[in-house]
Order: sequence, then structure tokens, then C-alpha cells
Amino acid sequence: MASSKKMLQIFVASPDLGLPSRSLTLSPYLTLHSLKLSLFPSQNLTQTLNCLYFSLNGKPLLDSSTLSSADVKPSSLLTLRLRFSGGGGDGGATGAESRDCYLNMYAVKKPDKVDPNETRLSRWTTCAFSSEPLAPPCVIDRIGNIFNKESLVEALIHKRLPKEFSHIRRLKDMIPVHLSPIPDAGRQEMRFQCPISGLEFNGKYGFVAIKGCGHVLSGKALKEVKTSACLVCHKEFSELDKIVINGTLEEVALLRERMEEERGRSREKMEKNVGCSLSGAKHGVGETAGSLECVGKDRSAKRFKAVDIAPVNATKEVYASIFTSSKKTEFKETYSCRSLPLGRN
Ligand SMILES: [Zn+2]
Repeated sequence: MASSKKMLQIFVASPDLGLPSRSLTLSPYLTLHSLKLSLFPSQNLTQTLNCLYFSLNGKPLLDSSTLSSADVKPSSLLTLRLRFSGGGGDGGATGAESRDCYLNMYAVKKPDKVDPNETRLSRWTTCAFSSEPLAPPCVIDRIGNIFNKESLVEALIHKRLPKEFSHIRRLKDMIPVHLSPIPDAGRQEMRFQCPISGLEFNGKYGFVAIKGCGHVLSGKALKEVKTSACLVCHKEFSELDKIVINGTLEEVALLRERMEEERGRSREKMEKNVGCSLSGAKHGVGETAGSLECVGKDRSAKRFKAVDIAPVNATKEVYASIFTSSKKTEFKETYSCRSLPLGRN
């Protein structure tokens, strides 16, 4: 009688779920099903639990068995595994169940739903592109998204910007901004505030960046102190220099319109310049070729070439090949060997 009551110390681990091994002292009469329930006590997870099974030394165990009937010895390691659908055979495994399994598994890991409030707030505390916590130097685009400059520049150079940021085409489309940190050394992630009103930059209040100087002020401060000079550096600004950060849909639409307008204007200006040089060429037939060539050169000069920024010790061609499709070679391909450099043999 005494021996049958003896508790059993075993280890349970689940690499599938990313759970490290832990030691448990259990009654030998505990069923594996109850053990599972005790590991995930919080929620109604029947479906998830059905996707999990224990194995001992690589051998799957039935949920209905007790530790003792499954021959689990003291100090054994039970592994909690995820049931993958592997062609069925167990009378119920389908792809759909397996998918459900995964979804439930993630539900276990992240029990709380994404709070829309939190999503909204995260726009104020993280980089709109990389989702990393905001850390100066920061920039905004012309429609009021805020970024960590480094991640945005890098994405731009490597052409990794998603479509939603396709309006950011060059460095000029990034406006450097100065965020005022809240002095609090205890926190790891920086938080920011309006340098005038002290309102926190967290999504609860409207903020405006001034394009010329880059200072970021709360809308409230700007409204209360009626001025056309920056409240921090006293530089004059116009209504058009104000960019609402993380604005409403209407505000963003307005900013976008303004951006397109400005782009149209600068395009016009550029075309005018090109037109001038072309009309200048009309006067002397002999000069035509020269001017055209000039225009051509201007255009090619604007194209970004990786070779131009190659590090000092880099072989330029090799460096460029990182960014562009590789150089045409005479390598032949056969159906079994793609791109095998036969030419070299
Ligand atoms: Zn300023």
C-alpha cells in the first residue's frame, strides 16, 4: 500500500511548443490526459490538447493511460509533441485539423487579442517601417508617418520598402524631426513628449512636425500660443510647413494631396529647365548634339549606382553585383546543372 502511494518525479518538455524541460512530482495514477490539462490549465483548449500527445523514448503514449500503466519510470523524460497530419491513419487527421492546431497553438502563446487601441498607440512608439521602438534620429515622410531613420534609409537603399511607403523615393522625402525625450532613465524604451506642453507622444494627443526645423510639438501647444514661429527655436514657419503626425484619414489625404502637388510643381520646374536647354540648342544647329548629350548626362547622373558608394577596399564590380543582377557570362546551363561554370573548365 505504501509503495503504491509513492510519488513519481519525472521531467516534461516540449520542444515543439518551445517549453523547456521541467521537473514534476506526480501520482503514478495520474492519466496523461490530466497531466496535459494541468500543464495548460487556463483556458478551454480541448482542441489544442487533442493536437498534443506525450511520448516516452520516442514512443507515443495514449492519453488514457496513467503514468504507471504507460510504464513511466522515475526521472523519465516525457516529451509533449504536436500531432502533425502525416497522411492520416489515425482515423481523423486532416490538413484542416492540423491548421487549426497551429492556430490554437498560437492562441496559447498569445492569449490576449490584439487591442486596436494598442495598434493605434504603437504607431506613436515604434518605427512605421521596422516596428522597432522609436529611437532618434527619427524622420517623418510627407504624410506624417514616423520612422527610425536608419531602418528607413537602409530599406530605401535595398529597395525593400513596401508599397504603402512607395511615396518615399529618396532621402529628400524624409524629413528629420527632433523628438523631445521624457527624462526617465529607468525605462529601456524611450518615450517622447511635447517640449512645450509636456503632453506625451503616445497617440492620445495630436502632434505636428514643423518641416523647416523639425521640431515636434503638440497640436494643443501650437493652438494655444498663436504664433508663426516655432515655439522651440523661434524659426518662422507657414501653414504648409506643418505636417500632422499619424493624422486622421482626412489629414493624411490632405498631406498626400499636398505632396503630389509639390511633386508636380518640381517636375514642371525640371521640365522647364530641360526645355530651356533644348530651345537653346535650336539656335545653333552645331550645338544640338552637345546640349542633348548634356541632358542625357543629367539624367544618368541622377540614377543611383551602387558602385559609387562602394567601400574603399571593395572590388567595385563585386560590390555592385550585390545590388544588381549578376553580370552576363557565357556559362552554359544544362537541365541538371544550373549555372555551372562550364566555361571555366
Ligand atoms: Zn523649431
